Amino acid sequence: MGDAHERAARLCSYCAKLCRHTCPLSNVLGSETLTPQMKMEIFDLLRHNTLGWSSDLAAVFFACTGCGLCQQICEHDNDVEGALWAARAEALRRKQAPAAIAAVPEQFRRREERLTAALRACARAEWFDAAARILYLPGCDTLSTTPDRVDNAFAVFRALDVSVTLSERPLACVGYPLWAAGAPDAARLVAERVIDLIRDYEQIVLGCAACTYTLRRTLPAAGFALNGRVLHLSEFLSEHSAQLPVRRRRPEAYYHDPCYLGRHLSIYDEPRAVLDRCVDFRREFFHARERSECCGGGGLVPLTYPAVTAGQAKKRLAEPSLHGVDLVVTACSGCTRTLQAARTDIDVLDLVDLVAWAIAPPPGH
Ligand code: SF4
Ligand code: SF4
Repeated sequence: MGDAHERAARLCSYCAKLCRHTCPLSNVLGSETLTPQMKMEIFDLLRHNTLGWSSDLAAVFFACTGCGLCQQICEHDNDVEGALWAARAEALRRKQAPAAIAAVPEQFRRREERLTAALRACARAEWFDAAARILYLPGCDTLSTTPDRVDNAFAVFRALDVSVTLSERPLACVGYPLWAAGAPDAARLVAERVIDLIRDYEQIVLGCAACTYTLRRTLPAAGFALNGRVLHLSEFLSEHSAQLPVRRRRPEAYYHDPCYLGRHLSIYDEPRAVLDRCVDFRREFFHARERSECCGGGGLVPLTYPAVTAGQAKKRLAEPSLHGVDLVVTACSGCTRTLQAARTDIDVLDLVDLVAWAIAPPPGH
């Protein structure tokens, strides 16, 4: 293991758990071992050979959604997620990672083939425009669960009169699951292919917050140079929000900040500006913006701790339910999928789905 995380691991080891309230894993499971401090202390003890590696100890490194809330409140700005991702790579190398994680690199390739085939099966001719200089990457959660969202996105692009295309070549995911699994070599191979696929576009517009973070931060930090401008779909829409031909609005909605969009990329105002065109009144969670709580779906936690994902999503949706608001809007296909799976009395919509509804003619017109 490199020394990039030495200082953070040491500081956490001697910390009085000042961020212990932040972690969805320790909160949902009521586990002291899964507090950020304990995970980092285990990381530190393994690095210094005070403890020996075992699959039980390695499992704690996979108990992190990458939400960044612990780092947000940390006086030392400790990058817990980065340290745990490095620990994941070491666990994978030592064959101590959970089986579901060890299978991710092989499953990634098969999943991409499956999603590409699924997209081809439902594709419309208008989704592919060889002359377009703007590439739209919907994200693997959209392709696997909600291909209608691609139709919605293109309805919005059409209404804005902007020329956007999907990739003609297979490109379902830019590789976040591989970085999160601790498989950087496999992630680099995907990154090389992604860079080659997107190099001719002036703008790359992504529907997934984690994919946007991967292209904007992870790949450049790993030495990859990007040509085009990388935008999250909410940023793209906010640049055009005044032109959105809105015909109907929902009365009110809460906005949920995706961790990789908010804390990791500081994109807070753009999705709110678009949402404000589509609702009469925007509500804010008690924990919003920099202090927003995770939906529970990041960091491959749905593979390793699915009960946490389900519990955290339900917890997040309890607040609008308490206040009698029946709509939560977010701006990430992964968060939308996670929150929808919680199946509460709350309607959860991805921002682009709400925009497509808002600009569509009401029934009967
Ligand atoms: S991240 Fe900061 S607040 Fe949390 S345990 Fe480490 S040093 Fe303490
Ligand atoms: S980044 Fe989030 S999930 Fe990971 S240890 Fe910190 S608070 Fe927990």
